[in-house]
Amino acid sequence: MRAEELLRRYLEQRREMGERELVLDDLTVEQVMRLIGAARADAPERAAADWRAALAAAGATVPSPKPAPAASRVAERAVDAPPAGEPHAPDAPLAPGIVVDGGDRELFGGRSAGAASLEEIAALVSACKACGLFAAAKNPVPGDGHAGAALMCIGEGPGASEDETGHPFVGQAGQLLTKILEAIQLKRDDVYIANVVKHRPPGNRTPSPDEVKACMPFLVRQIELVKPRVILALGLSAAQALLTTKDPLGKLRGREHRYHGIPVIVTYHPAALLRNPAWKRPTWEDVQLARRILDRPAGA
Ligand code: URA
Repeated sequence: MRAEELLRRYLEQRREMGERELVLDDLTVEQVMRLIGAARADAPERAAADWRAALAAAGATVPSPKPAPAASRVAERAVDAPPAGEPHAPDAPLAPGIVVDGGDRELFGGRSAGAASLEEIAALVSACKACGLFAAAKNPVPGDGHAGAALMCIGEGPGASEDETGHPFVGQAGQLLTKILEAIQLKRDDVYIANVVKHRPPGNRTPSPDEVKACMPFLVRQIELVKPRVILALGLSAAQALLTTKDPLGKLRGREHRYHGIPVIVTYHPAALLRNPAWKRPTWEDVQLARRILDRPAGA
Protein backbone atom coordinates (compact mmCIF):
# COMPACT_ATOMS: atom_id res chain seq x y z
CA MET A 1 0.00 0.00 0.00
CA ARG A 2 1.27 3.45 -0.83
CA ALA A 3 2.42 5.69 1.98
CA GLU A 4 -0.17 8.38 1.13
CA GLU A 5 -2.99 5.85 1.50
CA LEU A 6 -1.58 4.61 4.82
CA LEU A 7 -1.30 8.14 6.10
CA ARG A 8 -4.85 8.98 5.04
CA ARG A 9 -6.20 5.92 6.85
CA TYR A 10 -4.25 6.71 9.99
CA LEU A 11 -5.43 10.28 10.05
CA GLU A 12 -9.05 9.18 9.66
CA GLN A 13 -8.71 6.68 12.47
CA ARG A 14 -6.99 9.18 14.76
CA ARG A 15 -9.71 11.71 14.12
CA GLU A 16 -12.35 9.07 14.82
CA MET A 17 -10.61 8.38 18.14
CA GLY A 18 -10.74 12.06 19.00
CA GLU A 19 -7.00 12.49 18.67
CA ARG A 20 -5.51 15.67 17.41
CA GLU A 21 -1.86 14.68 17.40
CA LEU A 22 -0.33 12.43 14.82
CA VAL A 23 1.28 9.32 16.25
CA LEU A 24 3.12 7.34 13.64
CA ASP A 25 2.82 3.61 13.86
CA ASP A 26 3.66 1.93 10.59
CA LEU A 27 4.98 4.83 8.59
CA THR A 28 8.65 5.47 8.64
CA VAL A 29 9.90 8.94 9.41
CA GLU A 30 11.44 9.00 5.94
CA GLN A 31 8.08 8.21 4.27
CA VAL A 32 6.26 10.96 6.10
CA MET A 33 8.97 13.47 5.50
CA ARG A 34 8.68 12.70 1.83
CA LEU A 35 4.92 13.17 2.05
CA ILE A 36 5.26 16.58 3.60
CA GLY A 37 7.93 17.49 1.09
CA ALA A 38 10.74 17.62 3.60
CA ALA A 39 12.80 14.79 2.24
CA ARG A 40 14.08 14.18 -1.22
CA ALA A 41 15.25 10.73 -2.16
CA ASP A 42 17.95 12.29 -4.28
CA ALA A 43 19.21 14.64 -1.55
CA PRO A 44 18.63 13.12 1.88
CA GLU A 45 20.95 15.66 3.49
CA ARG A 46 18.46 18.41 2.59
CA ALA A 47 15.76 16.72 4.64
CA ALA A 48 17.42 17.36 7.97
CA ALA A 49 17.50 21.06 7.27
CA ASP A 50 14.02 21.30 5.84
CA TRP A 51 11.58 19.31 7.92
CA ARG A 52 10.82 22.09 10.38
CA ALA A 53 10.19 24.51 7.54
CA ALA A 54 7.93 21.99 5.78
CA LEU A 55 5.93 21.38 8.94
CA ALA A 56 5.57 25.09 9.56
CA ALA A 57 4.46 25.58 5.95
CA ALA A 58 1.82 22.87 6.53
CA GLY A 59 0.48 24.93 9.46
CA ALA A 60 1.83 22.73 12.27
CA THR A 61 3.36 24.01 15.48
CA VAL A 62 7.02 23.18 15.12
CA PRO A 63 8.62 21.83 18.30
CA SER A 64 11.95 23.26 19.30
CA PRO A 65 14.76 20.75 19.46
CA LYS A 66 15.39 19.32 22.89
CA PRO A 67 18.07 16.98 24.17
CA ALA A 68 17.14 13.31 24.43
CA PRO A 69 16.42 12.24 28.02
CA ALA A 70 18.72 9.76 29.69
CA ALA A 71 17.82 6.18 28.77
CA SER A 72 17.21 5.15 32.38
CA ARG A 73 14.69 7.97 32.85
CA VAL A 74 12.80 6.91 29.73
CA ALA A 75 12.52 3.32 30.93
CA GLU A 76 11.34 4.43 34.35
CA ARG A 77 8.58 6.62 32.95
CA ALA A 78 7.51 4.09 30.37
CA VAL A 79 6.55 1.59 33.03
CA ASP A 80 5.89 3.15 36.34
CA ALA A 81 5.79 6.81 36.93
CA PRO A 82 3.39 9.23 35.31
CA PRO A 83 5.04 12.54 34.46
CA ALA A 84 4.93 15.35 36.96
CA GLY A 85 1.57 17.06 36.96
CA GLU A 86 -0.41 13.92 36.14
CA PRO A 87 -3.91 14.56 37.51
CA HIS A 88 -3.86 11.47 39.70
CA ALA A 89 -0.26 11.32 40.80
CA PRO A 90 1.37 8.07 41.93
CA ASP A 91 1.81 9.42 45.42
CA ALA A 92 -1.96 9.52 45.85
CA PRO A 93 -2.77 7.19 48.75
CA LEU A 94 -2.89 3.54 47.79
CA ALA A 95 -6.31 3.08 49.27
CA PRO A 96 -7.15 -0.19 51.01
CA GLY A 97 -10.81 0.72 50.54
CA ILE A 98 -11.11 3.35 47.87
CA VAL A 99 -12.14 6.78 48.91
CA VAL A 100 -13.25 9.18 46.22
CA ASP A 101 -12.58 12.55 47.67
CA GLY A 102 -14.97 15.46 48.15
CA GLY A 103 -13.67 17.14 45.03
CA ASP A 104 -14.83 14.33 42.78
CA ARG A 105 -18.16 14.04 44.49
CA GLU A 106 -18.71 17.72 43.85
CA LEU A 107 -17.41 17.44 40.30
CA PHE A 108 -19.66 14.54 39.45
CA GLY A 109 -22.69 15.70 41.38
CA GLY A 110 -22.52 13.03 44.06
CA ARG A 111 -25.84 11.53 43.01
CA SER A 112 -24.88 7.89 43.40
CA ALA A 113 -22.69 8.35 46.45
CA GLY A 114 -25.23 6.61 48.67
CA ALA A 115 -25.64 3.46 46.56
CA ALA A 116 -24.71 0.52 48.75
CA SER A 117 -24.37 -2.10 46.03
CA LEU A 118 -23.88 -2.61 42.32
CA GLU A 119 -27.52 -3.72 42.11
CA GLU A 120 -28.60 -0.42 43.61
CA ILE A 121 -26.53 1.43 41.03
CA ALA A 122 -28.23 -0.60 38.28
CA ALA A 123 -31.61 0.46 39.63
CA LEU A 124 -30.51 4.11 39.75
CA VAL A 125 -29.22 3.87 36.19
CA SER A 126 -32.58 2.46 34.96
CA ALA A 127 -34.38 5.46 36.38
CA CYS A 128 -31.77 8.02 35.33
CA LYS A 129 -32.82 10.95 33.15
CA ALA A 130 -29.85 13.17 33.98
CA CYS A 131 -28.99 13.49 30.28
CA GLY A 132 -30.94 12.87 27.10
CA LEU A 133 -29.41 9.49 26.24
CA PHE A 134 -32.07 7.43 28.01
CA ALA A 135 -34.72 8.69 25.57
CA ALA A 136 -33.46 6.84 22.49
CA ALA A 137 -31.99 3.83 24.29
CA LYS A 138 -33.76 0.47 24.44
CA ASN A 139 -32.11 -0.67 27.66
CA PRO A 140 -29.79 0.76 30.29
CA VAL A 141 -26.39 -0.94 30.40
CA PRO A 142 -25.13 -0.40 33.93
CA GLY A 143 -22.27 -2.93 33.79
CA ASP A 144 -21.73 -6.47 34.99
CA GLY A 145 -19.22 -9.05 36.07
CA HIS A 146 -17.43 -10.07 39.25
CA ALA A 147 -18.38 -7.72 42.09
CA GLY A 148 -14.95 -8.14 43.70
CA ALA A 149 -12.93 -8.24 40.49
CA ALA A 150 -9.20 -7.52 40.53
CA LEU A 151 -9.48 -6.03 37.04
CA MET A 152 -12.15 -3.56 35.99
CA CYS A 153 -12.54 -2.81 32.27
CA ILE A 154 -14.11 0.49 31.33
CA GLY A 155 -15.38 1.30 27.86
CA GLU A 156 -17.03 4.33 26.34
CA GLY A 157 -20.71 3.48 26.11
CA PRO A 158 -23.08 0.77 24.90
CA GLY A 159 -23.37 -0.01 21.21
CA ALA A 160 -26.28 -1.64 19.37
CA SER A 161 -25.83 -5.17 20.80
CA GLU A 162 -25.38 -3.86 24.32
CA ASP A 163 -28.46 -1.65 23.94
CA GLU A 164 -30.46 -4.72 22.84
CA THR A 165 -29.30 -6.93 25.70
CA GLY A 166 -28.56 -4.55 28.57
CA HIS A 167 -25.06 -6.05 28.98
CA PRO A 168 -21.71 -4.38 28.22
CA PHE A 169 -19.32 -5.55 25.53
CA VAL A 170 -21.41 -8.35 24.03
CA GLY A 171 -21.03 -7.37 20.34
CA GLN A 172 -18.02 -7.89 18.09
CA ALA A 173 -15.83 -5.59 20.17
CA GLY A 174 -16.91 -7.53 23.24
CA GLN A 175 -15.87 -10.81 21.69
CA LEU A 176 -12.46 -9.35 21.00
CA LEU A 177 -12.29 -8.07 24.58
CA THR A 178 -12.97 -11.61 25.80
CA LYS A 179 -10.02 -12.85 23.73
CA ILE A 180 -7.78 -10.05 25.00
CA LEU A 181 -8.66 -10.99 28.58
CA GLU A 182 -7.99 -14.65 27.87
CA ALA A 183 -4.55 -13.67 26.58
CA ILE A 184 -3.73 -12.50 30.11
CA GLN A 185 -5.29 -15.56 31.72
CA LEU A 186 -8.54 -13.90 32.75
CA LYS A 187 -12.02 -15.11 32.04
CA ARG A 188 -14.76 -12.61 31.41
CA ASP A 189 -16.46 -13.71 34.61
CA ASP A 190 -13.31 -12.77 36.55
CA VAL A 191 -13.54 -9.09 35.66
CA TYR A 192 -16.05 -6.29 36.10
CA ILE A 193 -17.02 -4.45 32.91
CA ALA A 194 -18.64 -1.04 32.79
CA ASN A 195 -18.85 1.99 30.56
CA VAL A 196 -18.51 5.71 31.04
CA VAL A 197 -22.09 6.30 29.88
CA LYS A 198 -24.78 3.77 30.65
CA HIS A 199 -27.20 4.42 27.78
CA ARG A 200 -26.33 4.07 24.11
CA PRO A 201 -25.39 7.31 22.35
CA PRO A 202 -27.47 7.38 19.12
CA GLY A 203 -25.53 6.03 16.16
CA ASN A 204 -22.65 5.14 18.49
CA ARG A 205 -21.45 8.72 18.54
CA THR A 206 -18.95 9.78 21.17
CA PRO A 207 -20.76 10.88 24.33
CA SER A 208 -20.70 14.63 24.90
CA PRO A 209 -18.84 16.13 27.88
CA ASP A 210 -22.21 16.89 29.53
CA GLU A 211 -23.37 13.30 29.10
CA VAL A 212 -20.10 12.02 30.54
CA LYS A 213 -20.36 14.39 33.48
CA ALA A 214 -23.95 13.38 34.15
CA CYS A 215 -23.09 9.67 34.16
CA MET A 216 -19.76 9.70 35.99
CA PRO A 217 -21.21 9.37 39.51
CA PHE A 218 -22.30 5.84 38.62
CA LEU A 219 -18.85 4.83 37.42
CA VAL A 220 -17.16 6.48 40.38
CA ARG A 221 -19.38 4.53 42.76
CA GLN A 222 -18.90 1.29 40.82
CA ILE A 223 -15.15 1.69 41.22
CA GLU A 224 -15.57 2.38 44.93
CA LEU A 225 -17.67 -0.75 45.36
CA VAL A 226 -15.65 -3.15 43.20
CA LYS A 227 -12.31 -1.86 44.50
CA PRO A 228 -10.34 -3.28 41.57
CA ARG A 229 -6.58 -3.65 41.83
CA VAL A 230 -6.20 -2.43 38.25
CA ILE A 231 -8.43 -0.48 35.88
CA LEU A 232 -8.14 -1.05 32.13
CA ALA A 233 -9.43 2.01 30.30
CA LEU A 234 -10.53 0.97 26.82
CA GLY A 235 -10.25 3.87 24.42
CA LEU A 236 -10.01 7.60 24.67
CA SER A 237 -13.37 8.41 26.28
CA ALA A 238 -12.73 6.13 29.25
CA ALA A 239 -9.15 7.28 29.63
CA GLN A 240 -9.94 10.98 29.46
CA ALA A 241 -12.93 10.71 31.79
CA LEU A 242 -11.02 8.78 34.44
CA LEU A 243 -7.80 10.73 34.26
CA THR A 244 -9.45 14.13 33.71
CA THR A 245 -7.16 14.85 30.81
CA LYS A 246 -7.46 15.81 27.18
CA ASP A 247 -4.26 14.02 26.20
CA PRO A 248 -4.53 11.77 23.13
CA LEU A 249 -4.53 8.03 23.48
CA GLY A 250 -1.08 7.64 21.98
CA LYS A 251 0.30 9.68 24.86
CA LEU A 252 -1.69 7.93 27.57
CA ARG A 253 -1.16 4.30 26.69
CA GLY A 254 1.89 2.25 27.58
CA ARG A 255 2.34 3.40 31.17
CA GLU A 256 0.74 3.33 34.54
CA HIS A 257 -1.57 6.12 35.74
CA ARG A 258 -3.47 6.32 39.00
CA TYR A 259 -7.11 6.90 39.78
CA HIS A 260 -7.25 7.62 43.50
CA GLY A 261 -4.36 5.27 44.04
CA ILE A 262 -5.65 2.54 41.71
CA PRO A 263 -3.32 1.75 38.80
CA VAL A 264 -4.94 2.62 35.46
CA ILE A 265 -3.71 1.22 32.17
CA VAL A 266 -4.98 2.87 29.02
CA THR A 267 -5.23 0.97 25.78
CA TYR A 268 -7.00 1.00 22.43
CA HIS A 269 -10.71 0.29 22.34
CA PRO A 270 -11.40 -3.20 20.92
CA ALA A 271 -13.66 -1.62 18.27
CA ALA A 272 -10.70 0.44 17.09
CA LEU A 273 -8.58 -2.72 16.98
CA LEU A 274 -11.11 -4.34 14.70
CA ARG A 275 -10.62 -1.46 12.30
CA ASN A 276 -6.89 -1.24 12.71
CA PRO A 277 -5.03 -4.49 13.37
CA ALA A 278 -1.75 -2.52 13.63
CA TRP A 279 -2.88 -1.52 17.14
CA LYS A 280 -2.99 -5.14 18.31
CA ARG A 281 0.65 -5.17 19.27
CA PRO A 282 0.58 -2.03 21.48
CA THR A 283 -2.65 -3.35 23.00
CA TRP A 284 -0.91 -6.62 23.79
CA GLU A 285 1.87 -4.70 25.50
CA ASP A 286 -0.66 -2.65 27.50
CA VAL A 287 -2.58 -5.67 28.78
CA GLN A 288 0.68 -7.42 29.64
CA LEU A 289 1.52 -4.39 31.77
CA ALA A 290 -1.89 -4.71 33.46
CA ARG A 291 -1.14 -8.39 34.08
CA ARG A 292 2.22 -7.58 35.66
CA ILE A 293 0.57 -5.10 38.01
CA LEU A 294 -2.05 -7.71 38.95
CA ASP A 295 0.77 -10.14 39.66
CA ARG A 296 2.57 -7.73 41.96
CA PRO A 297 2.37 -8.77 45.58
CA ALA A 298 -0.47 -6.85 47.28
CA GLY A 299 0.75 -3.54 48.69
CA ALA A 300 3.89 -3.52 46.49
N1 URA B 1 -18.16 -0.29 23.19
C1 URA B 1 -18.09 0.20 24.45
O1 URA B 1 -17.38 1.17 24.72
N2 URA B 1 -18.81 -0.39 25.38
C2 URA B 1 -19.58 -1.45 25.15
O2 URA B 1 -20.21 -1.92 26.08
C3 URA B 1 -19.61 -1.95 23.85
C4 URA B 1 -18.90 -1.37 22.87
